[in-house]
Amino acid sequence: MAIQVTRTYVATIRNQQQVQSGLDSLGFAASKLWNIARWTCDRIWSETGTIPEDGPLKAYLKNHERYADLNSQSSQRVIEELAEAFHGWYAKRRNGDDRANPPKYRKSGDDHPRSTVTFKEDGFKHDPKNNRIRLSKGRNLKEHWSDFILCEIETRPDVTIGNVRQVKAVWNGDEWELHIVCKHEIEAESPGDETAGIDLGISNFAAVSYSTSDHELYPGNALKTDERYFAKEIAKCNSSRSNKALKLRQKRSERRSHYLHAVAKHIVTECVERGVGTIAVGNLEGIREDDETGEPRNWGDRGNEGLHGWALDRFTNLLTYKAKTEGIAVVVVSERDTSKTCSCCGQKRDANRVERGLYVCRNCGTVMNADSNGAENIRCRLDQAEKVTLNPRSSGDRSSGRVARPVVNLFRRGEHDPSCGQGTFAEQASSCKS
Ligand SMILES: [Zn+2]
Repeated sequence: MAIQVTRTYVATIRNQQQVQSGLDSLGFAASKLWNIARWTCDRIWSETGTIPEDGPLKAYLKNHERYADLNSQSSQRVIEELAEAFHGWYAKRRNGDDRANPPKYRKSGDDHPRSTVTFKEDGFKHDPKNNRIRLSKGRNLKEHWSDFILCEIETRPDVTIGNVRQVKAVWNGDEWELHIVCKHEIEAESPGDETAGIDLGISNFAAVSYSTSDHELYPGNALKTDERYFAKEIAKCNSSRSNKALKLRQKRSERRSHYLHAVAKHIVTECVERGVGTIAVGNLEGIREDDETGEPRNWGDRGNEGLHGWALDRFTNLLTYKAKTEGIAVVVVSERDTSKTCSCCGQKRDANRVERGLYVCRNCGTVMNADSNGAENIRCRLDQAEKVTLNPRSSGDRSSGRVARPVVNLFRRGEHDPSCGQGTFAEQASSCKS
């Protein structure tokens, strides 16, 4: 499987002296444009009560005199960055950080800082033979039609610059450097033809069923313990705006993120070991709806209602990315009825799921962990979703009365203090109910 990866390389500019004033004028121009756009946002904001998105803002400022100081794609990028900065601010406010400020003006007294200038396809030319990159100026700053900034670049000796998609001129405090974004195609060989299905949920954050006839569970305790701990600690703070509360929220977000990375990485490693080439993940839409499983739809602690959907979306993205670099495809399939259907005989009956956490089929007598059953059904949807040759389970395994015992991967952090320590997974012997 050929996959595309993007890499950014930092290059120093060998002819710094020659190009510095040219780059300075672009960097200052970017700051000025930022300020004009920022001021325009303020004005529209006070008149209409909303902050414009980058589309209308670009259309509005396109004819502004300062817009033509930079190549038009570079000007567009400045406005997009401002819109992104506003979105970052909205997100912080949504997460309860009411100390967050909207994006600032780029000014210190009468001086402008040197802003980063981005050059897209129209704005640069790479000359690999001579190790040069030519950067465009805007109409206003050109002295004649062929007035460009020609940078002689130097990168680490083991780096080959090629297939350049974007160049950023960045002032590092001492001098200008170029951040060069290259697109590479690499071959990642699929580990094999086996398949896996993943059921994402609450009591088990993930249940995995492999075509090699084994199951794994990733209980969500570590995440739940964290949520409770941080909710309690934040509630103890004198003010939700205090530094302590802010630090706690940051810590919580780091730990959520660490947990999701750890689960995704562990699953991908397990897939590689088993020769899995395709992973099916349930379509997350269904999870947020109520269904008949009797599971709570969120973790119920005040303040993290949105966490569950958020965590699952983010997890799927992480998993897809990590899997891709190992040559494993991730396919999203419908999870409709996957909790009600028997993965052994295919019979669908509401009454089949008799006990919380345990799936019992009245038809064939299968007893298995309910999440493992869901994961196996999700895995079996692969043949509907894409032309994947499914490796069916060995037939002996389909016999009635099977009791599947999944491996449980418990996430353990350093001792009982949720405020510190990174975690690892430890296998635990399980009953079929766990
Ligand atoms: Zn059955």
